Amino acid sequence: MKIIAATNNANKVREISEIFSPLGFEVVSQRDAGLDIDVEETGNTFAKNALLKARAVSLLCDDYVLADDSGLCVDALGGEPGVKSARYAGEGASDEDKINKLLGKMEDKTDRGAKFVTNIAFISPDGKELVTQGEVRGRILKEPRGENGFGYDPVFFSDELGKSFAEAAPEEKNSVSHRSRALLALYEEIKNINN
Ligand code: IMP
Repeated sequence: MKIIAATNNANKVREISEIFSPLGFEVVSQRDAGLDIDVEETGNTFAKNALLKARAVSLLCDDYVLADDSGLCVDALGGEPGVKSARYAGEGASDEDKINKLLGKMEDKTDRGAKFVTNIAFISPDGKELVTQGEVRGRILKEPRGENGFGYDPVFFSDELGKSFAEAAPEEKNSVSHRSRALLALYEEIKNINN
């Protein structure tokens, strides 16, 4: 089955493809599908924003579509940056800027607990919608560690892996990540669709 990934984030497309291709899905980015669209994320939850993105792309094609909305929720910051994770340090800010802002806010915090959350919205060509969720818990490091991954990966220490997500190889991160958990939950729902 071919699925259009409704995102302009190349790192998300890579991870979605790494997880879903071995399960028999062809993941095509919206750009490679010839769809030039940038959806404003006006929702106040990951699920609402995932649906906004998936619906916008689904209206433009006759394929299965999935969209990922995700972010980092830090306990000591009341769940921030949450749905604002991408724009935490302002529009167009780099990953480094976002990490620096986060580390500044965490300077005096002893509770370092945090989780990554992903909601995946999936829409069939006949308009049926599904939303799944995945989470992974960890701790915010005092300094970035590692070169892999993207976003907040260098400051997210995974208790399950015993290293930061940026120190983990892609297949290690995918074995525990919020994104892979949401995708595997989706897989359980759609594996019997024949196409
Ligand atoms: P959005 O889903 O496009 O709103 O953006 C989510 C933002 O959360 C990304 O730009 C990253 O900053 C962050 N994020 C989401 N997933 C991950 C991940 O797997 N690792 C690190 N940062 C992530």
